[in-house]
Amino acid sequence: MENKNIYDKIFEKRCAVCGQKYMADVYDQGECSNCGWYNGKMYSEFPDNVIFSNLISLNKAKQLYSDGKPLKPDLDDFLEAFEFYGETGFEYNNVGFSMFRNGESGIEFSWGPEPNGTIYFKNKEDFV
Ligand SMILES: [Zn+2]
Repeated sequence: MENKNIYDKIFEKRCAVCGQKYMADVYDQGECSNCGWYNGKMYSEFPDNVIFSNLISLNKAKQLYSDGKPLKPDLDDFLEAFEFYGETGFEYNNVGFSMFRNGESGIEFSWGPEPNGTIYFKNKEDFV
């Protein structure tokens, strides 16, 4: 590797979840290609909080990883992320889904591109 990019060295960090190397930017942020965890300083500072771009907390991710499970949020994690941001989204079978607050407690749930659609829910309980 004669012409190794200098950024490879400077920004090569260890994933907080699985310990594999990932490429980080100046804020230590970067997605781990091994486990899918999105690394960053703030995730390590608040390991029990769900912080964008991750949909689960760092401690939960570590637990799932040591159990050999994929780093996927369960419904509670998903709703926690939603409560925090007021919007969230995910992708399933190449269809993008997004949730937005609609009024006081309503939820607008959309998907697309094709076929696309939107469902409105009265509140969180209605959605679940
Ligand atoms: Zn990782």
